[in-house]
Amino acid sequence: MLDCAIIGGGPAGLTAGLYTTRGGLNKVVMFEKGMPGGQITMSSEIENYPGVTGHISGMDLMIPWPEQCQRFGLKHEMSEVTRVSRREDGVFTIQKSDGSMDEAKSVIVCTGSTPKRAGFTGEDTFFGRGVSTCATCDGFFYKNKEVAVIGGGDTALEEALYLAKICTKVYLIHRRDSFRSAPNTIERVKNTANIELVLNAIPEEVVGDAMGVTGIRVVFNDATTRHIDVPGVFVFVGNNVNNQVLMQEDGSFLCEMTPWGEVKVDLSMKTSVPGLYAAGDMRAEAPKQVVCAAGDGAVAALQAIAYADGHH
Ligand code: FAD
Ligand code: NAP
Repeated sequence: MLDCAIIGGGPAGLTAGLYTTRGGLNKVVMFEKGMPGGQITMSSEIENYPGVTGHISGMDLMIPWPEQCQRFGLKHEMSEVTRVSRREDGVFTIQKSDGSMDEAKSVIVCTGSTPKRAGFTGEDTFFGRGVSTCATCDGFFYKNKEVAVIGGGDTALEEALYLAKICTKVYLIHRRDSFRSAPNTIERVKNTANIELVLNAIPEEVVGDAMGVTGIRVVFNDATTRHIDVPGVFVFVGNNVNNQVLMQEDGSFLCEMTPWGEVKVDLSMKTSVPGLYAAGDMRAEAPKQVVCAAGDGAVAALQAIAYADGHH
């Protein structure tokens, strides 16, 4: 029986692994279906991890993390977890894609989330070279430049407002003429002088050269097109939360979730189920940053230690 099972080996899972083992839990396994490090390993440059200066890729940032955890006894198992359940006696079961199963006294779920792609030509080719899904991460690279934002939900409008503070101009491209966002957010966007609404416009192609994106072409409902010169295109068309491991046989979730599939947690990363914690991008209201995911992992780990001691 494990003291704690950690599902996912990104910044949240690895930090949970560091704090649980260093804090005295003996049998802790981090289940990661791929290489540890998480989605930041796809980033060519990270500038906002505190204390890390100079040019560093996401991969380079994450390389020392597993080794640091292993020094304190964290076991890493390369496995895909298919389901986490809780028996009536309070023990968690961890089912894996190879059909095997583990048991754990507590579980920290850190499986992250994945931004959706809009599907226009050039989106994948230029991803990380002008196409981004994170304004907090990449907005600064476009300081005093013009950018395009795609989407018409709360995320697109909030991120457009964020980018409007950094960039000279933001083209907000949306495929309809009305937004899904909260009314006051729409009002703020409309009242922001350097946001231009490009409505009834479907992004068709992002174009660029060896240096990266140079512009985006959109097609309007009446079949006319417009080319907009921008070096940066931010795509906010929804998010897939990697919550499948919490789905039970009957289709319900093990713990309470938000309407859009994120795990509801309190400030201690506790879910609605005792002994079950969620950390990082998959939890409600996550800022979706490495430093925040790591912080969540530490908080969840301290709670898992207290749970093992009977304080919860
Ligand atoms: P993730 O990093 O998504 O890790 C989740 C892990 O769980 C993955 O390794 C996955 O393989 C594993 N997993 C999922 N399901 C299962 C399963 N069923 N079984 C086993 N393992 C599973 N943040 C910044 O702070 N600054 C930046 O500059 C920045 N730039 C970014 C650039 C890019 C291109 C991307 C994609 C993200 C960027 N981010 C940045 C965001 C940052 O990467 C995330 O906020 C952070 O990685 C979230 O950590 P996490 O541990 O919650 O999830
Ligand atoms: P969302 O609400 O699903 O909005 C996605 C937007 O992208 C929609 O406007 C959609 O257009 C557009 N879109 C989808 N696919 C597209 C494509 N292929 N090409 C072009 N446009 C496309 O996603 P979200 O904004 O990430 O929000 C997710 C949930 O989180 C929502 O429930 C939201 O309210 C919530 N949220 C809340 C807050 C907050 O309360 N402060 C902040 C962020 C998110 P259509 O409108 O035409 O479908």
